[in-house]
Amino acid sequence: MSELNPFKIAQAQLDEAVGILGLDKATHDLLRWPMREFRFLLPVRMDSGETRIFHAYRVQYNAARGPTKGGLRWHPDETIDTVRALAAWMTWKTSVVDIPLGGGKGGVTCNPKELSETEKERLARAYIRAAAPHLAVDRDVPAPDVYTTPQIMAWMLDEYETIQGCKHPGVITGKPIPLGGSQGRGDATARGGVYTVREATKALGIDAAKTSYAIQGFGNAGQFAATLHREVLGGGTLAAISDSGGGVYCKNGIDPDKAIHYKQETGRVAGLPGTEPISNEDLLELDVDVLYPSALENAITADNAARIKAKISCELANGPTTPEADKILFKNGVFVIPDFLANAGGVTVSYFEQVQNTYNYYWTLEDVHSQLDRRMTDAFHAVHDMSKKESVHMRLAAYLVSVSRVAEACKLRGWV
Ligand code: GLU
Repeated sequence: MSELNPFKIAQAQLDEAVGILGLDKATHDLLRWPMREFRFLLPVRMDSGETRIFHAYRVQYNAARGPTKGGLRWHPDETIDTVRALAAWMTWKTSVVDIPLGGGKGGVTCNPKELSETEKERLARAYIRAAAPHLAVDRDVPAPDVYTTPQIMAWMLDEYETIQGCKHPGVITGKPIPLGGSQGRGDATARGGVYTVREATKALGIDAAKTSYAIQGFGNAGQFAATLHREVLGGGTLAAISDSGGGVYCKNGIDPDKAIHYKQETGRVAGLPGTEPISNEDLLELDVDVLYPSALENAITADNAARIKAKISCELANGPTTPEADKILFKNGVFVIPDFLANAGGVTVSYFEQVQNTYNYYWTLEDVHSQLDRRMTDAFHAVHDMSKKESVHMRLAAYLVSVSRVAEACKLRGWV
């Protein structure tokens, strides 16, 4: 179904914003497509001795505001179009939080659950050998995303520095702390999202400490959101969580720490003691104050949007809501904090990491948190003010803020 092609969705979202901003045709044509994209075939020796060929991508969407920046996703469903969409959203993401970076993304079509640690290491190093000529601190900078970890970033940094013959810690972010990673990078995506929820509850007059919340997707972002929601908002009841193996629900609240421990022990949330099962679909439709879609694209579509009852949907995932669903949610008064605003905390702390790598001086955790809070709060209010001024939903408002900044940079460079 073409409605669900993420790149077509990203283009349709852009088209709507360009129409309102009244941008010229050349600017529109430039912003609809990646400026550069690469496809690599990666031969990797498996533990069995057999060689497997992996398909991999790197898309450098737009570099008008700075070096392209964005994660590397390892997923069985990865295609050039998912990577293009994610690279476009990175462009709008770095712009909405106003950091001096462009947008890019990488992907490898693979199932990491079937790879051993040594196979992962060889795949990570193979990716860098292919992509290295196109990466640099001032050119294009990868980071973690779905199924890629600080350890994978460490192998990739090591391979890059071996090729170059010198140190370049800022060429990859989300590194382990001993290799130049930043304090606070691990939970930054979820923390940034929860800061925007805090601002949204103030704007909507909701008592933050009494909010109920549900999390679809219990990976890196979802797990941190479970604890940070209560820490940052001063309270809250976690009603339900889910992952690709199903979900669990408890009316009186799930203990986030126990849920994280159980997930780490068993690899799933299903069967968590003291809970009852719930499907991913039913979780999305729960009557909670805050819903965190934290899995993959296209969770909320025209099929289920009318049944979403949450007051706030904070999109920690990239692309969880289709354009048709956006219209329905807006009509029904669901306040959406759109993906590239809600989950911009990760790339914001990646930027702090690069800054620290550049001047080789490292910040405290408190410094990172206060700087992140300021960036996320400012970005939330820039978007919220725009949504009130133009009477549009928050996603369209976020596009208006971001796209106008990128368009201005393209114009200043004389590209259009
Ligand atoms: N993968 C994250 C994202 O989608 C972080 C990107 C980065 O830190 O460069 O925003």
